[in-house]
Amino acid sequence: MIKTLLGGFVAVSALLGTVGLAEARTLKVVASIDILADVVHNVGGDKIEVSSIVPSGGDPHEFEPSPADAKALADADLVFVNGLGLEGWLDRLIAASGYKGQSVVVSEGIATRNMEEDGKTVTDPHVWNAAANVGVWVANIEAALAKADPEDAASFKANAEAYGKQVAELDSYAKTAFAALPKDKRKVLTSHDAFGYFGREYGLTFLSPVGLSTETEASASDVAKLIGQIKAEHVKVYFFENSNDPRLVRQIAKATGAEPGGELYVETLSPPDGPASTYLKLFKYNVDQVLAGLAK
Ligand SMILES: [Zn+2]
Repeated sequence: MIKTLLGGFVAVSALLGTVGLAEARTLKVVASIDILADVVHNVGGDKIEVSSIVPSGGDPHEFEPSPADAKALADADLVFVNGLGLEGWLDRLIAASGYKGQSVVVSEGIATRNMEEDGKTVTDPHVWNAAANVGVWVANIEAALAKADPEDAASFKANAEAYGKQVAELDSYAKTAFAALPKDKRKVLTSHDAFGYFGREYGLTFLSPVGLSTETEASASDVAKLIGQIKAEHVKVYFFENSNDPRLVRQIAKATGAEPGGELYVETLSPPDGPASTYLKLFKYNVDQVLAGLAK
């Protein structure tokens, strides 16, 4: 029975040709990380199906793609990536998958910041931790979806406007809240350097024992230097992040007397029942955690 129905469908499709089908088709979209997949989902709505390559809780810097990831990519109409050196594993995966479509770099147009890592100047990829940058993502995602599926452009535009407004409201919320704190209180220790854009946008200093990427191990002299800096600058609070080993930051905190401020979600969402299951929740949660930590 099913075979007959499918057979019939194929025959009708062949008669209609591709024109009528293109309108009704759901775009298959792949995003590199779950935070990006969530933002793409908000812009694409029910006109797209989106999945993330790096699973929730995974480390986007050190990800090892599987054959299933290559298969998902091969079947995709469109691929969205953060870019700026975050997805070092992506070119290999695209080559292995045979995907011939476009990779849309959503961070195109963001004013990036540089960081020193092992004596080299590199671009900081963690743009999403400043909400204003996700406003740029939204515009780039809308443009790419509208190009791939012009029939649904009005729907993408309406979604992008509504969602972009929520992102902009969170950005103002963070700016106002941090501006109310004394400048010398706005210093935080974290386990990895993912809050550079957050710090730049909202006027905070984030000190971290590792370089820009989790691929780099902190050396003993780096750790000693940081401990000295934390003591000298009277940093009072430290945070763990959900995708990183907390041992080093705990050890540094112990040596400096900094108090634990809790866990931050820096580059992956929480599970669905957790406090940061969407980008909007993640951003608000991080802002509120840091505010509460600094208020101690
Ligand atoms: Zn990172």
